[in-house]
Amino acid sequence: MTTPSPGPRVTPPDASEIGPALDRAAHHAARFLESLASRPVGARASVADLRAALGGPLNEEPVSAPDTIDALSRGVDAGLVASAGPRYFGFVTGGSLPAALAADWLVSAWDQNAAMFVGSPAAAVLEEVAAAWVLAVTGLPAHASVGFVTGAQMANFTALAAARHAVLAREGWSVEDRGLSGAPPLRIFAGAEAHVTIGSALAMLGLGRATLTPIGADDEGRLRADVLARELRRGTGPAIVCAQAGNVNTGAFDPFDAIADVTTAHEAWLHVDGAFGLWAAASPHSRHLTAGMARADSWATDAHKWLNVPYDSGLAIVADPDAHRGAMGMSASYLVGQPDARDGFLWTPEASRRARGVAVYAALRSLGTSGLARLVERGCAHARRFANRLRASGHFDVLNDVVLNQVLVRPTGRPGDDDAATDARVARILADVQREGTCWLGGSRWHGRAVIRVSLSSWMTTDDDVDRSAAALVAAATRHAEPM
Ligand SMILES: *Cc1c(COP(=O)(O)O)cnc(C)c1O
Repeated sequence: MTTPSPGPRVTPPDASEIGPALDRAAHHAARFLESLASRPVGARASVADLRAALGGPLNEEPVSAPDTIDALSRGVDAGLVASAGPRYFGFVTGGSLPAALAADWLVSAWDQNAAMFVGSPAAAVLEEVAAAWVLAVTGLPAHASVGFVTGAQMANFTALAAARHAVLAREGWSVEDRGLSGAPPLRIFAGAEAHVTIGSALAMLGLGRATLTPIGADDEGRLRADVLARELRRGTGPAIVCAQAGNVNTGAFDPFDAIADVTTAHEAWLHVDGAFGLWAAASPHSRHLTAGMARADSWATDAHKWLNVPYDSGLAIVADPDAHRGAMGMSASYLVGQPDARDGFLWTPEASRRARGVAVYAALRSLGTSGLARLVERGCAHARRFANRLRASGHFDVLNDVVLNQVLVRPTGRPGDDDAATDARVARILADVQREGTCWLGGSRWHGRAVIRVSLSSWMTTDDDVDRSAAALVAAATRHAEPM
């Protein structure tokens, strides 16, 4: 008789690991979050460092969940960017409000499928409530429908799908059934300064980037309603117009009332990309910028930018729920519709999905309307402060009208320097500041010239953070002020 040799010892995932693994995650998360105020803002590790720390072939034997979390946390640290912290001013990037972050952890622990009411009555009602709150605080129609998507890119996609549905339905064409070949041609207009994701939404919708007619913008990047009126008069047929609340460079708002007068007269669908600017409506100090915005047919916004909800979170909002559902809804015998409650899948491209609206709910609940207004006002005040500090240094010109949370600066030209020389100096100053680590800022181009863009979107930022960061930028400019 032979003794069977023992097979490989397999440690299956074990429910007893859950508590320790979550404890380890909470420990590492707290340490990371505590470090945000002091750690260098940019990542320190190179791509090779990170591959060496995290890569290699997949182990054959299981690793316990707590050990997996410990090793993960150790391996990533030098490659993390403190973008959730108080001195990250790149792109338009919010941090995570404490309640939103903690709620997001719960969403993962609950692991609900937010596609259908029956999948999670709790998630469905939380999202229903969060949707109503968002509409109320931004002054949008209470009857509008809201889809919880991953970001403004997908919000633009979803809202423009509703637009495509509605304007073609008016022509007797069901685009969802018949597709676009043979469909009446659509005319699509957007400001020359529209965000790049409008073009990619059109590409994904089969409408094509090149069908977009750019409408001239003014100095601050605002779509000109008179030019739009002229362009719409040049032809006939169904039309979609994309306007913007919050230019990604200047923070400027398109003139919605004038634009809505034009789109109403031409029966065109009006969409507003308000990835961060939509939230300006939540404060009495900036609400005037959004005047007329509620007259649009659809809106896109992010919760992971100025609302400071963790990634990823965006909202697609449509004034006519039938158009929204017509574009996104689906039916199958096993999809149990809930007539008197919210089925999430009707409003998003996704079917199964995490209960993304719960963190939005927690963010709004924890802020209240007054806290939300203050969050917006602080971002605007910090932007003005940053601009004033840089202007007063004599090293920078502020290029935009600082109406919101965005500041565009360029080093003051030196005698004899042409634009190309100053562009090169922008690149050197940015690289220097990013390496130095007090803060992180990115570059952009404005009116054909290289600029430094400062976006004040984090709830964590204080006046002191603004002053230290402006000083770091001035110090870098001083280092690069001498003729090469
Ligand atoms: C950030 C941004 C987007 C894209 O949003 P994502 O969250 O990256 O999907 C679209 N429009 C504007 C104006 C933005 O600022």
